[in-house]
Amino acid sequence: MHVQRNGIAVECLQGDIARQKDMEAVVNAANAELMMGGGVAGALHRAAGPELAEAGAPMAPIQPGEAVTTEAFNLPNDYVIHCLGPVYGRDRPEEELLRACYRNALKRAEEHRIQSIAFPSISTGAFGYPVEAAASAAVKEVYEQSRHLKSVQAIRFVLFSQEDLKRYETAWQHLV
Ligand code: ADP
Repeated sequence: MHVQRNGIAVECLQGDIARQKDMEAVVNAANAELMMGGGVAGALHRAAGPELAEAGAPMAPIQPGEAVTTEAFNLPNDYVIHCLGPVYGRDRPEEELLRACYRNALKRAEEHRIQSIAFPSISTGAFGYPVEAAASAAVKEVYEQSRHLKSVQAIRFVLFSQEDLKRYETAWQHLV
């Protein structure tokens, strides 16, 4: 799916967040310690190499909703923006914390004059956030922020499964 929203190119596709060659920044669904972990963090740390954890260590721990930036090392990108999503049922208010991840990631991207950024589905793996609700929150926040973006021109959601891709596409369709 490709759409244009407030002058920003928005795309949803099925894929691996560690293989987004044409994006300047990729977002990590990080853990508080900014360490390896499973899912998205595992894929990104494996592809980036051990320097990624070394670069994150001085900034750890981060809080739910927060986003911090590092280099991307052996990844095909320039930056990794690490977000800590809320653990569903523990970190509250969960929707606001999840939206803060997307808002703060875009803020970091603007600070670094980044033009293109790829997001995974933050919090919907190990952190247990139901995908439909997470997709709706993510899409609303990105849409609201898209009005204010100056350097970011392209935003991509990279979903691991066909089902999750459908849910994010549906969330974009329901927005308008
Ligand atoms: P969290 O801890 O924030 O829940 P996870 O990494 O466990 O983050 O999962 C977030 C989502 O990313 C899940 O929907 C999971 O299926 C998906 N995912 C896992 N690995 C990848 C990958 N390599 N690329 C894109 N998405 C992935």
